[in-house]
Amino acid sequence: MKKFIKLALKTIKKAGASYGDIRIIESRKQRIDIKNGENERLDNSTTLGFGIRVIANGALGFASSSDLSGREIRKVAKKAVQVAKASAKVRKGSVKLAPEPVHNDIWTSPYLVDPFQVPMDEKLSLLMQIDKILRQDDRIKIAHSFMSFWNEHQWFASSEGSFIEQNMLRSGCGFSATAVEGDQVQTRSYPQSHGGQHSQMGYELILGMPLKENAERVREEAIALLSADECPQGEKDLIIGSGQLALQIHESIGHPSELDRVIGMEANYAGRSFVTTDLYKDFHYGSSLVNIVADATLPTGLATFGYDDDGVRAQRYHIIQQGLYKMYLTNRELAHVVDENHSRGCNRADGFNNIPMIRMINISLMPHQGSLDDLIADTKDGLFVECNKSWSIDQRRLNFQFSTEIGWEIKNGKKTKMVKNATYQGITPQFWQSCDAICGQEEWQLWGVPNCGKGQPGQTAEISHGAAPARFRNVTVGVDK
Ligand SMILES: [Zn+2]
Repeated sequence: MKKFIKLALKTIKKAGASYGDIRIIESRKQRIDIKNGENERLDNSTTLGFGIRVIANGALGFASSSDLSGREIRKVAKKAVQVAKASAKVRKGSVKLAPEPVHNDIWTSPYLVDPFQVPMDEKLSLLMQIDKILRQDDRIKIAHSFMSFWNEHQWFASSEGSFIEQNMLRSGCGFSATAVEGDQVQTRSYPQSHGGQHSQMGYELILGMPLKENAERVREEAIALLSADECPQGEKDLIIGSGQLALQIHESIGHPSELDRVIGMEANYAGRSFVTTDLYKDFHYGSSLVNIVADATLPTGLATFGYDDDGVRAQRYHIIQQGLYKMYLTNRELAHVVDENHSRGCNRADGFNNIPMIRMINISLMPHQGSLDDLIADTKDGLFVECNKSWSIDQRRLNFQFSTEIGWEIKNGKKTKMVKNATYQGITPQFWQSCDAICGQEEWQLWGVPNCGKGQPGQTAEISHGAAPARFRNVTVGVDK
């Protein structure tokens, strides 16, 4: 590997690059889907390739290949420099990377059980048992369960002298039941998160999840929702469960904090931000209870690593502290835009064949105090919602609407009747400013989001968000039509 890396760095220097890095990635994925008792999908794939990124004449260039041969490395390295030189002709100003110490390191995500060593029969058998429980009622028309595993082995080397090897292992699992009666369609999922749970762990994630134990409840809730009342309409004190809050954080804090969006470099996928650089410092983003931390060192997080794809060491810092906005997600290229003299370590690429860009690292709402039961007991006239069904948010990440799989009315401190088709809406800063209670550490959970899309061509990133249930005052709620 070192031989290829040396060759790449030598070639780009000779071709006139002032900076260059190479990432070699070996990736192995497995995905198993069971639908209505059938093995609907079984994917096993492995890829190996490299991407070379350079700065030449003040502009960035990138090229990649899946052919790891000396000849190809030379060809791709030269191409990356050509691309940079061509884009330098139309670019205003020069790319200057914020300084970063040279790192020579190896980082590996910890795990107990290698999922690729667990027999396929064992995985299928567990999913089939869940599927059987989910379909024990004729009104369940779709039962879906899945497992996914991903190992990524990366080597990064830069012309500045860094050499970093990283090995990451991620696992995921979840299921859902969809009940149908007449024109009514209701889905419940386990766990309480959009698209299952995903962690940077081994098969111990699946072994530790009470999957079968929850299958009957999920089935019964999907059926109960068919005849449940519609969600009430009006202003309510809204308690949001941690799985739904994870997505709320993702869409209304994570994305608007990506500095490339803020300055208009990334306008795809609802790509601007209301948190403009003229107003960000100490902007009242939320109530004083709201502490949002970006953390690439968080155990089991999907965006946990030793170093990002700029070769910048993983960091932990506040995006929002006691309600006040503090800092964006940055990389080496754009740190200077907000007068920072180092990157916050958020440059990430999807695989070897994409150029890195600013992506979220794990972004979490810090816990405060008390249990969910305490919070419900303290709420007079409210609504508790959990598990995302759909979302929409405008280009600047200001006006949003989320709907959830399930809701419960809260009357005089008690969770009362189940309601269906619950939706809530708000305007990002007003919504976070209305947060007047956040449960404690004992209710805090980390949720993996494995499918965050951004860029042109599109790239997928994996991120985790932690949260404990929290209450928001006077939120407009209603029925999702
Ligand atoms: Zn996203």
